[in-house]
Amino acid sequence: MSQDYMRFFPKPACYTNQKEAMESIHKALLDQKIVLFEGACGTGKTLSTLVPAIDVAQKLGKVVIIATNVHQQMQQFIEESREIKQKQDIKVAVLKGKKHMCPREVDYETCSVLKENTYELINKEKESAEIRTRLKQELVDSGDNDNSGESLRSELNKLEKEIRELRDRYCSYLYKVAVSDTDDFSLWYFEEVRTTEEVNEWAYKSDMCGYELMKKQMVHADLVICNFHHILNFNILANLLGWMDKSVDDVIMIFDEAHNLESAARSHSSLNLPAYSLQRAFEDVTANEGISQKDSYRVKDLEKLFKLIYQHLKDVYESRLDFGERERLPNTWKDVTICDPKHRDDYFLKRLLEQIEEAGITDLYELLEDAAELGRYLDDFYKEQYKQGHSNRKKNSQLLRSAEFFMFYLEHASDMAYYPLLNVRRKDNELEGRIELVSCIPNNVTTPIFSSFYASILMSATLQPYPVMKAKLGITRPTIEIAYGITFPEDNRLTIAINSQPLFAKKRDDPGTIEQVTQILNDIIQHTDGNVLVFFQSYHEAKMYKNRITSEATVYLDEIGISSQEVRDEFFKVGETGNKAIIFSYLWGTLTEGVDYKDGRGRAVVIVGIGYPALNDRMRAIEAAYEHEFPGKGWDYAIQIPTIRKVRQAMGRVIRSPTDYGARILLDGRYTSASLIRLKKYSVFHAFPAEDRDEIIDVEPDNVKFSLMNFFNDMKKNQ
Ligand code: SF4
Repeated sequence: MSQDYMRFFPKPACYTNQKEAMESIHKALLDQKIVLFEGACGTGKTLSTLVPAIDVAQKLGKVVIIATNVHQQMQQFIEESREIKQKQDIKVAVLKGKKHMCPREVDYETCSVLKENTYELINKEKESAEIRTRLKQELVDSGDNDNSGESLRSELNKLEKEIRELRDRYCSYLYKVAVSDTDDFSLWYFEEVRTTEEVNEWAYKSDMCGYELMKKQMVHADLVICNFHHILNFNILANLLGWMDKSVDDVIMIFDEAHNLESAARSHSSLNLPAYSLQRAFEDVTANEGISQKDSYRVKDLEKLFKLIYQHLKDVYESRLDFGERERLPNTWKDVTICDPKHRDDYFLKRLLEQIEEAGITDLYELLEDAAELGRYLDDFYKEQYKQGHSNRKKNSQLLRSAEFFMFYLEHASDMAYYPLLNVRRKDNELEGRIELVSCIPNNVTTPIFSSFYASILMSATLQPYPVMKAKLGITRPTIEIAYGITFPEDNRLTIAINSQPLFAKKRDDPGTIEQVTQILNDIIQHTDGNVLVFFQSYHEAKMYKNRITSEATVYLDEIGISSQEVRDEFFKVGETGNKAIIFSYLWGTLTEGVDYKDGRGRAVVIVGIGYPALNDRMRAIEAAYEHEFPGKGWDYAIQIPTIRKVRQAMGRVIRSPTDYGARILLDGRYTSASLIRLKKYSVFHAFPAEDRDEIIDVEPDNVKFSLMNFFNDMKKNQ
């Protein structure tokens, strides 16, 4: 087959497997297939996907979109597309959310109204210029008769008054984009691959809106770099396609870090309604009683309904707080269970419906439809108020939001795919609550995506097992599946599973277990030649073991709720200068993904325990939903497989190049190959892909120090 696509390949040579990967992907894209591509560090995944995708797109008149949810990856796409551009002049657009680019720092809704006013102003100015021309002509034709042009003059006066008013409430940055010749921007923009920061700088100097400038150029782009949000939010995706003048089947979609797609889609399709929205909903009705009554809305019933829901929500979350807990609540949301996660008895809704009936409301759904209709009317009214300058803030109808939420809640009350919860937190010294509908299986977002794009690629270092990935994301189209393990020299890494006590929930706090783990950690730290990263199941454990270990090295704790960047940079610095530091972190924190612990930054990574997420009711509901949809697979789909992916991500933090070296240590008997027989169903050895299993060596706790000593001695000799 012709390897025409190599004209986009910017490197002097391919990595091992890269050529084969590009060839398979190229063929799959021509066949409109979905590619599942797992590649360890060193596979060159980004170029392996971009090169064939750009070639196919150019041949078939398509466009390539590459999306990630990891900030650092976006930077890498920019750099790699710059390299491609040096070889072939492709046009690349980098997208970030409007809020990062708006010099006025206003929200989406406010921007929409300002835009309407701006375009209205431009149209009226055009109209006014035309009338002036006509007026001039009329005066000439009438030989400067004073009475001529009277009606045009009055039209002009009216128009000018409207223009003066609109000038108080338009967006000057957009105005300048709309009325200026932006060819110079276009030339500058596609000369290079521009970051949004560079665009903002250009726009700032010209008093223009960078976002609007960029939007106008999207129609020319061959490659768009964006984040998951641009794709998983269907409104944003529709806008993006509109700017590009493309439809979904014109897109070759690449998802990076695709193992995170399910949880990102879950966040997008879960809904929540704050208590304050309910409070404002009945205030909306009361404040607009005149309008509501004129149109014969059932004002009293609406007020009664939303007051009742608000009060019920508040009563429930307040009643669930223990004595003194209200004062101790953090400002992060805490879940309050209102529904049994397995059998889905929704106590909250049941009691709410009883109260609604007791209050004499017998047609709840019709009343909510009425509320939504009034809400829509009020929403238009608020928009007009802001547009006309009668209000200095664009209000949204909370009545509409509340009514729509509750209609959805009622419609999905017996749907296992949604799980209701209350959340409560303390903010600015006030208690805040909300109701949430967790989307347990977010297929409503992922299935349409994969069935409608021309072709898609999902890539990650941890995508397997593929059948599970396909089932969970609702992929039904033909796929090709490619997996490449680590290709760096085998001698440069040591992967051990320590045959220690399994850290079962009921055993992990036993003094004997804690003593054994502490001893092993001390051995690992002492015998590792450089920085050591230790990931625990929870922050609580990380903190506890940090206080137990005995080491001369600098020890850092990745504290919950505090940005880990500073700690991480300090940790890097120590390792890069040839010294030793330890960082104690937790598996579900921010240090296990998207961070490059290359060379001296990390010489050993330790995962203590299996690291299952907190098995709270939210997780149990997701497990029950998967069990319902895929009988017998609930635990694997919801808990086991995502956890092992997380462990593999953590293991992949060290050994980042062919010359890099390090140790990957799994500290729990359940990781060993021997556990398959000894611990049977509790073993997790089988949950790793075959290429990972081949490298895992079982080591007894007392021998860990010798394994590490030998390994680091060998590495020293080879240097
Ligand atoms: S048009 Fe641009 S500058 Fe104006 S409000 Fe919207 S994003 Fe901000």
